[in-house]
Amino acid sequence: MNDELLEQVLRSPKLPSLPAVAMQIIDLVQQPDVSLDQLSLAISRDPALASKILRSANSGYYARSRRVTRLSEALMVLGLRRVKTLALGFSLVGDPRGKNGESFDHAAYWKRSLFAATVARTLAPHAGLRAQLEEAFLGGLTHCLGVLALNQALGEQYQDVVRAAGGHSAGLLPFERERLGLDHAAVGAALGEVWNLPPELIEGMRHYASPNDAPLELRRLVQCIAVGAYGADLLMGIALSEALPGFLHRCRVWFGIADADATTLLEEAQRSGLEMAALLDLPDPMGMSVSDILVLANEALAELTLNAEAENARLERENEQLESEASIDGLTGLNTRRRFDGFLDEHVRVAARYEAPLALMMIDLDHFKRVNDTYGHQAGDNMLQAVGRVVLDTVRETDLPARYGGEEFAIVLPLTDIRGACGLATRMLRAIAEHEYELPSGVRLGVTASIGIAAYAPEMDGPAEFVRAADAALYEAKAAGRNRVRISAMERSDAPIPVVPA
Ligand code: GH3
Ligand code: MG
Ligand code: MG
Repeated sequence: MNDELLEQVLRSPKLPSLPAVAMQIIDLVQQPDVSLDQLSLAISRDPALASKILRSANSGYYARSRRVTRLSEALMVLGLRRVKTLALGFSLVGDPRGKNGESFDHAAYWKRSLFAATVARTLAPHAGLRAQLEEAFLGGLTHCLGVLALNQALGEQYQDVVRAAGGHSAGLLPFERERLGLDHAAVGAALGEVWNLPPELIEGMRHYASPNDAPLELRRLVQCIAVGAYGADLLMGIALSEALPGFLHRCRVWFGIADADATTLLEEAQRSGLEMAALLDLPDPMGMSVSDILVLANEALAELTLNAEAENARLERENEQLESEASIDGLTGLNTRRRFDGFLDEHVRVAARYEAPLALMMIDLDHFKRVNDTYGHQAGDNMLQAVGRVVLDTVRETDLPARYGGEEFAIVLPLTDIRGACGLATRMLRAIAEHEYELPSGVRLGVTASIGIAAYAPEMDGPAEFVRAADAALYEAKAAGRNRVRISAMERSDAPIPVVPA
């Protein structure tokens, strides 16, 4: 990387600078026990910011029935998390008009960033990030901060690079690296560090173009931000032929969202984005509806088919890449082994550190080979699909059910002890066995499963040993005659054995 240029960019007097109040707010919001009073005091030092917060509390975006007229009341109404987001967001956006005579269009930049923010926020619940809506919003808002910084610091020199690249912001990266020896992802992350932004925002900037490189615990969030970037291009009418497949593909593969639902989601994000734009005094963004945008995007795509071969090869590569990153199993709709591994890793770390209970359930269908041998592989697949649904319907929302291998399923049960796991396993056993599976040929048949469960114990040496324990219990269930639950021997040795029906 061109360290010299990075230094020059970071030290450039033209760099967007954060007002002192914003610095203080960033400091405050990172203190876990910050109170609304402390934030209120900091915000009240910046009247413009205070008035924007007041307007937010009264806007449709945070729909309320009663008008709020005092800052302290607005903070109560919005709640700490939202105030943090808004204060940080508004401080960063600052004056969206930029300085006179600049060729860089600040308003367009912030509009696009704002759409990325609302798309990421709308998507977050579908990514299992219900508790991180605000982080997703801020991540979208800041993901391209490096572009802003490079523009400010290098001016025309950078504009030349942007013109040469055209297209989606992630597509800019290789051009930047070739011409400048550094890219806006690295600049954004470095700037985020200088500004002491929260880590999830820094990693969002660094990795939004390839979320798989993000630290595991932030990967889902960075994926949301990445899709936010494509959604923002769509809503801004930028590089439509790239943005449409980029957006739909990722929604489908990363989050299991069908195209029609992804479009609805985009409309919702557009509405929120327009409301927020008004709050931020951004001039009226382009007034196209999502369906108009989709028509345009599809036309642009159709034109591209002239270049179809090269494009197909590219899409195919991209597809392969996306499949390998996939978190949803295509046949059963359950999580993939890959996602399971990541989730288990995270939760084992949490369990080890906080002594939180954690259980694991392994399920293997009994004599499944016979189903294939008798009715054909296709029938076997149909049955697996149906079992997947039964599994999904039986677990709780906080559990992570996955297809572990061919006809094996695994479920991570956070905050669950062996007793809880036992209860769920018993219900699961019954649900699978009682379900009547109808093959496309009309044949009805049943299947049973064997289940092994284990509870995480501190003396276990990481996730691998945990899986081995549950696997060994599963093996015992098979050996004891199938269609039953067995508990890991490690667990049995020091706890009363819960009653498990044979
Ligand atoms: P048991 O587990 O009770 O010992 O017997 P089993 O017949 O289920 O044996 P095992 O678990 O060792 O073998 C799994 C069989 O499941 C092998 C294969 O025929 C079938 N299977 C695995 N993956 C798939 C799949 O994706 N689709 C279909 N149709 N069948 C699969
Ligand atoms: Mg098996
Ligand atoms: Mg089996």
